[in-house]
Amino acid sequence: MFGTNGIRGVVNRDFKPEFTTKVAEAIGTFFEQSEIIIGCDGRSSNVMLKSGVTSGLVATGCSVYDAGLAPTPCIQYAARSHRFGGGVMITASHNPAEYNGIKVLGKDGVEVSRREEIKIENTFFRNKADRVEWQKVGRRSILDGVLEDYMDAIIGHVRVNDIRKRRFHVVLDSANGVASLVSPRMLRELGCRVTSLNADLSGEFPGRTPEPRPENLSDLRKTVRMTGAHFGVAFDGDADRTIFVDETGEVQWGDRTFALIEDHFLAGNPGEKVVTPVSSSQVVRDVAEKHESNVIWTKVGSTIVSHTMKKTRTKLGGEENGGVFYGPHQPVRDGAMTIALILEIMARSNRKLSKLLNDLPRYYIKKGKIHCPNAQKDLVLERLNDSVKQLEPETVDGVKLWFSDGSSILIRPSGTEPVYRFYAEARTIEKASRLITLYKRKLQAFVGSTRSESKEPEETTIENLPM
Ligand code: MG
Repeated sequence: MFGTNGIRGVVNRDFKPEFTTKVAEAIGTFFEQSEIIIGCDGRSSNVMLKSGVTSGLVATGCSVYDAGLAPTPCIQYAARSHRFGGGVMITASHNPAEYNGIKVLGKDGVEVSRREEIKIENTFFRNKADRVEWQKVGRRSILDGVLEDYMDAIIGHVRVNDIRKRRFHVVLDSANGVASLVSPRMLRELGCRVTSLNADLSGEFPGRTPEPRPENLSDLRKTVRMTGAHFGVAFDGDADRTIFVDETGEVQWGDRTFALIEDHFLAGNPGEKVVTPVSSSQVVRDVAEKHESNVIWTKVGSTIVSHTMKKTRTKLGGEENGGVFYGPHQPVRDGAMTIALILEIMARSNRKLSKLLNDLPRYYIKKGKIHCPNAQKDLVLERLNDSVKQLEPETVDGVKLWFSDGSSILIRPSGTEPVYRFYAEARTIEKASRLITLYKRKLQAFVGSTRSESKEPEETTIENLPM
């Protein structure tokens, strides 16, 4: 039932009112009659989901505090700072308008772990929700002020005066989502001039789709160039992820922005480590090595990054898709916090964003895939592991290998299709291609003579774009 980030589906196809209420009863049973904060992003189906979630929670004796429309990281912050027993965020993040979803938050604001999700799923599928007697049915209250508290908390983590002095001009593309409830105000507090795109809340996302991909950001790039702004920022639908456009109008991918933050964080915090999924660029490891630090690699998924940060007491995490987890604030990805950190770096270095980012090593990325029946995937992985042992592979999710010339390759079985995927990074396109060819051949031998049945091209080349 739960995917990478909560439960998602198309409204009135997957997410029907009775389904939502039943899920919420399972969540309420898990939270054992505690006080629960709920919030939602700007989708048109929110009334329907919020009513269902509220009904299920109060039926199981939880009390509901409705914080209204807010970014996901704002509700996560409020869950912890108000000491709620847990939270529910109603959002489908970057998915198109017809989708909605539910993220379940623990009392520290972090999405619950896979083990806790399984508990909730068991209650749901076994019809074991604990409905309470009528006297114990929970109440619903309105919770005001979470947006202001959240904004103040972020501002408290950066050098406000240094940033204010620079009078930055920032173009914000909020994707008609909840980012516009916090970030324009926060930037003005930080002395910035703000130009807003897609700032009006609309559940239909008329400005652009809520996934900040380079192909959706032409208006933002144009506006940054035309207005001479210092940079532009595009949010996803629930404002936990940000993609930056530098002052030249170039889209800078998430792991590069993260590497810039990592560079400054490790310079000021020697001995600290960083957490990132194996899908992140080599540049994250390069920056860590420069500071004689280490990267803790995880499986792909923001919840896994958060829980790894908690377990290992790591203060910084990041993802290639624009998620930055700044532990001193909260160990979850947070778009507004990311902007504040970038502003602070720019203010202190007195350099342009393109210059700061172009100082980082650049890599060519080559992708490939081969067909592999699902039943063979585990055995193939085992054989691959055996064959590359001497290269000290990272095996937390597939196999990742690093080579002495700075190149690397990630080989992962797809979770949804009968294929193995390859992602190579190198200083030259030829080297990246050679790595893909070499390891495709190696894996093909393990799989046997299976031919690819996919209609997608088997190889693509990208320069400085996400894997
Ligand atoms: Mg999101």
